[in-house]
Formats: sequence, C-alpha cells, structure tokens
Amino acid sequence: MQKTITDQNLCILIDILIKEGTRVVAPRQSGSIILYEPLDSGEQLALGTLPRRSAKETFFPLCETILTYERNCDGVKVADVDVAAFPETVLVGARPCDAAAPSILDAVFTWDYNDEFFLERRRKTTIIGLACATADDACFCTATGLSPQDSKGSDLFLTPLTEGGYACDGFTEKGKAFLGRYASLFGEQGETKPLPVSEPVAFRLDLAEIKTWLTENFESPLWQEIADRCAGCGACAFLCPVCHCFDIVDEGTDAKGARRKSWDACGFGKFTNHASGHNPRDIQNKRYRNRIMHKFKYYGDKFGQTLCTGCGRCIRHCPVGIDIKAVLEKIQKQ
Ligand code: SF4
Ligand code: SF4
Repeated sequence: MQKTITDQNLCILIDILIKEGTRVVAPRQSGSIILYEPLDSGEQLALGTLPRRSAKETFFPLCETILTYERNCDGVKVADVDVAAFPETVLVGARPCDAAAPSILDAVFTWDYNDEFFLERRRKTTIIGLACATADDACFCTATGLSPQDSKGSDLFLTPLTEGGYACDGFTEKGKAFLGRYASLFGEQGETKPLPVSEPVAFRLDLAEIKTWLTENFESPLWQEIADRCAGCGACAFLCPVCHCFDIVDEGTDAKGARRKSWDACGFGKFTNHASGHNPRDIQNKRYRNRIMHKFKYYGDKFGQTLCTGCGRCIRHCPVGIDIKAVLEKIQKQ
C-alpha cells in the first residue's frame, strides 16, 4: 500500500540511518554544484536539482583499490580488499534516469565474470528513487523507454505531492522491508495529489530502426560529419550513469603498492592503443562511433538493453556542443 512521508520525517529518517551507521548517499551541495555524495545529516539533502554527475559512483567508484602487495624477506604478500566490509548504503533521491542505471549494468558486471566490487555494493544498497517534477531541454528519458515517474531500479519510490512531502511506494522485498522497519515515520495515503510533472520535450526515437542503421553503417561518412569535432575529453562517459569502462593499473614500486581500478572512456585517444603501437580507433570520429555503437547496438545485441537512460548530462556538459539527441535524430532520418 502507498504511504506518505513529510519533508521533516525524511530528514529525520536520514539522521536515524546515519546514526545507525548506514552510509546515506543523496544529492547535496558540493562547492557550487549538486552531487550525489554521502550525507552527514538530513539537513544536507538537496532534492531540487538533477545532480551534475550520475549516481553510479555509489556502486562503481571513480577509483578504488582492489588489492595491495608488499615484498618482504618471506616473499610477496598480496592482500585482497575485503568487499564484505563495504557499508550498508541507502541511496536517497535517485532520479529515474539514475535509479534505472545499476539494473542495466547488472548484465555486464555479471557477464563473463562476477565483479564482486559492484555486486556487493548492489546487494548492500537500498535505492529510494524520486520522480522528476521538471525536465529541461536536454532530458529525453521518454525516448529511451523510461519516464519522469518511472520506478525501474528503485526499491522505494518517492513522488512529490502538491501539499509538500512525498507519496512513497515499496516495490521490492528490500523496499518493503525498509518501509516496515521505519513505519513510524510514514503515514497512510489520504487525499494527496502528486505534483504535476513537466514531461521532457516530445522527442521520439525508434531504437530498433537506429540499431538497424548502425548494423549497416559502420563505415558511413556520417561519422566524420558528426564526430570529427569531438575533443576526446571523456566528460560524456564520466558523467553518464551507464558508461562503465575501467582500467586496472598497479601503482607503487616493486616492493610495495596497490592495484587500482579507475574509470576509463572510449573517447580517450589511447583507450584502444595496442602494445605494438597500432591503434584500431586512431582518429576521434572512430571513437565517437564506438560510443554510439556501444550504447545503441552492441549492448542491445549482447544484453537486450539500451545503454542510455536519456539523462541528458552528455548534452549539457560536452565542451564542443555535441548533442547525442541530434546525432540520433540524424541517424533516424538517414
Ligand atoms: S564530452 Fe563531447 S568532446 Fe568530450 S568526449 Fe564526449 S562528445 Fe567528445
Ligand atoms: S549517453 Fe548521455 S543522455 Fe544517455 S545516459 Fe549517458 S550521459 Fe545520459
């Protein structure tokens, strides 16, 4: 049954969770921007703006140590990171384009290898999604199969109400158990109305048609036209909720050091550089082509899903103004 929670009780709930030792990640002011970051108190919650970066860092940090090594007179001691020590986490206020992302990434992180770093965080995280009341010109979640009220990936889902506070639904066993555990902070639904939602600007994509064109046009001159100006900065991949490439590097000396896993991006010039010096994606438009192919063809071929939730971040923050919506529209018109 649908419950409600007031703004004040949401703040109290966060304070209780933090006191219990739970890591609470939510949108908060971080310098001049809003980011999903761990909170120190419920008062820091800032739900009004879509955070600059996605929430993927909750499950897949920008950089993390996966083992350490040390050489001594007895040999080399290697110590794995103990993933069982990762903290219980509640992600509060994840927008539909961010809440859906981990469930899309489950496929690749369990494909040929179970990535326990990602999976343990998934197991230990409760996702409280939040419906969007506003959309800007860059948003296009509705064209990727989601919507501003979509609860995909959320254990619990908050919908802002006209009179303040939120309607709250529990969708998964984890979400329902959470509602039961903190029942005293939730009320029964009365005569409440959800805030009217401003839907993203009408923008339709035929994802099947786009996939067919991509299958047949690996060598199209269109790639040069749309992507030669890509600066290869990687901002689009780092801001994206579903880009998930990483690199593994040993850092330290031969006596002592750590193996680290860090985000990478197919837009970077050396991403596919071979040890021989050969680089199959030697120019920028081949790299951008890979970005579009991966999101709208390869991931679909392999896992039956589109690797884009239409969050619009890569449009808002591309330094040279490459607009993935315009690119997809162009492909659709071919
Ligand atoms: S943000 Fe723009 S310039 Fe940077 S890699 Fe992505 S498409 Fe290229
Ligand atoms: S490709 Fe762009 S619009 Fe799509 S999910 Fe990634 S950042 Fe958002």
